[in-house]
This record gives sequence, structure tokens and C-alpha cells, in this order.
Amino acid sequence: MTIRDRVKNLTPYSSEREKTEIRLDKNESPFSLPKQLKRRIMTQLKDLPFNRYPSSSSEGLREKLADFHSLNKENVVAGSGSDQLIAYAVKLFSGDRVVITPPTFSMYRFYSNLAGFDVLEVPLTEDFDLRPQQIKDAIRDSAALFLCSPNNPTGNAFERKTIVDLLETGKPLILDEAYVDFSGKSEIDLIKEYDNLIVLRTFSKAFGVAGARIGYAVASETTVEHLLKVKPPYNLNSLSETIAEVLLDNHEIIQDRVEFIKEERNRIYERFEKYSYPTEANFLLMDLDAHEFLLEKGIGVRKFPGRLADKIRVTVGTKKENDRLIESLEEFIESRTSSRLSGQQGR
Ligand code: PMP
Repeated sequence: MTIRDRVKNLTPYSSEREKTEIRLDKNESPFSLPKQLKRRIMTQLKDLPFNRYPSSSSEGLREKLADFHSLNKENVVAGSGSDQLIAYAVKLFSGDRVVITPPTFSMYRFYSNLAGFDVLEVPLTEDFDLRPQQIKDAIRDSAALFLCSPNNPTGNAFERKTIVDLLETGKPLILDEAYVDFSGKSEIDLIKEYDNLIVLRTFSKAFGVAGARIGYAVASETTVEHLLKVKPPYNLNSLSETIAEVLLDNHEIIQDRVEFIKEERNRIYERFEKYSYPTEANFLLMDLDAHEFLLEKGIGVRKFPGRLADKIRVTVGTKKENDRLIESLEEFIESRTSSRLSGQQGR
């Protein structure tokens, strides 16, 4: 069988979970849903006609999402995870290449390559900020720009005025707001003014249902019309749609958890300020090469190749998990310092 070169050259997404007791490697919520919410979901699922297809474009969920954001249903499209919407969004653009700003989420490159685009990188600065002029130069001859704010894996959010400045170029901008509930700085309102903006959101982080695979895109009515054309029918199953609807009806229950995670994030940051990058997400990037050390302690964190090779990304966990993390990182720093000191004595 002859396989397309584009596919042959792809590296499949891989982030298999190491068998750790404490999982701080995937930026998930550390909590399953509260019992009362699970009960409400189960009640709804009991009445679901399992023999029937769901609505082909998740109409009920689109309506609830539109209410949630004070927009129209015509501004929203739902997907099986926001990942899926990255794949659909790249189908809309014409041109040969897209621009990304690494270090950032790996799937922008993956789905762009798959759709036949080359990828041009405009790396973030030393402080992980955007380089607006270089980006503008790069997008002049490109099909689209991907930004993630707060950015995964660095944790910082970009300034609204820089995003507006880039939107002013008129080039399509996909703004991934997967972690925005932890920063409170959404730019969704800009879709009313800029029809070149597509905002991606997910239920996998603050809403805590990564397993249910629910995401959505918010954009101008025209852009959503096109997204609905490239999207296969029934792309979100009826079980997940039901879960998302119940969560939106009860979103205040989730808010406490977001506050808790922000407090815990700040506690970890303050404890390791010297090693942590400022973050507005539910994770921290740290200048500590402690991946293996933590694994031995039963704690899984994420490490990356290249520019971030000597760092770890740590997802905020439960209070108990964070205590274990803090204790282990202190031990790591201590052991590093003492081995450095004994090395000096030997010289
Ligand atoms: N965008 C970013 C920036 C992410 O970090 C992730 C999950 N790691 C996603 C999108 C994908 O989210 P989903 O579970 O909705 O596919």
C-alpha cells in the first residue's frame, strides 16, 4: 500500500502515562466531578435514547454555550475535544504554511502538517513573550497563526493589545484558551470585531472532564458556517454532549475548584519562586531537571525536548499531592546543592 509522504513523516502524538501514583503530567483537574453533579449526569443519561444518533452538530450544547458566553448559537461549534477543532480549523485556510510560536502545544504543528501545511516558527523570547514584529513579518505570506494563551507549556498569558495588534493584520488567528479559566483573561469578545479570530476552549481542564472529550470553537457566524461544513456530522457523541450540558447548567460548582487550584498554584510558585516561571494556568514550568527524581518518588511530571530540556512542567494537584511534590522538590534541590558542594571540595 502506498502511503502519502505527509503521513509517513508524521510523528504520532505520544504522552503515554508513566505508572505513577501521583499524576501531575497532563494538566488535568485533580478532582473527579462532585457526587451531586455525577448524580445529575446519570439521571440525564438514563433517559438518553441510546439507539438514536445525536443531533448532527450538537445543537443543544451550542445553545447552552452561546448562553454561557452571551453569544449566538451561530458563533459556536462543538467538537470531541478542542484537539478535533484544531484539525477542522486548519482545513479552512488557503496557503502553504502556518506560523506557530514555540514552545507551545504540539498539536498545532501536527494537524497543520497533516493538512498539508509547512510550519514556520517564531520562537517566544527568553521570557516566553511574543515577538509581534517577527510574527507580523512571518504571517504576511502565511495562511494562519496559532497562539495559546495562557500558553502550554510555559504558563504565561499574552497581552490583549498584542493579540489585537496581530488580529489587525487580517490573517486568521487561532487562539487556544484551554487554560483561560485559571487566568480569567479571555479574548472571546473579540470575535464580534474580528472575523479572522477563532477561539478554542475545552472541558478537559477547569471543567474536569478530560475523559469525556468535549471542546468547542467560538468565531464569527461566517467562520462557524465554514467549520460546520468541514466537520463530519455527529462528531460529538450524545453522552458527552449531555455531560457538557449538565456542567454548563451547574458551572458555579466548578468555580470553587478553579479557585482552589489557583491558590495551590500560587503556593507552589511562592515556595519555588527562584525556579518557577510566572503562570496563569493550572501548571507551572520549573527550571528543575527533576523528572527522573520525581518518578522515583512516584510523581509523574512532564518533560520536553529541546529548549526546555532542563525543565519540568508540573500540573497542580490535590493539597496532599502538592505537599508530596513540594517535599520531593525540596529534597531534589537539597541533594543537588550538597552534591555540588562535595564536588567543589574535591576540586
Ligand atoms: N489545547 C491545549 C493548549 C492543551 O494543552 C490541550 C490539552 N493538553 C488541548 C488543547 C486539548 O484539549 P482537549 O482535551 O479538549 O482535546
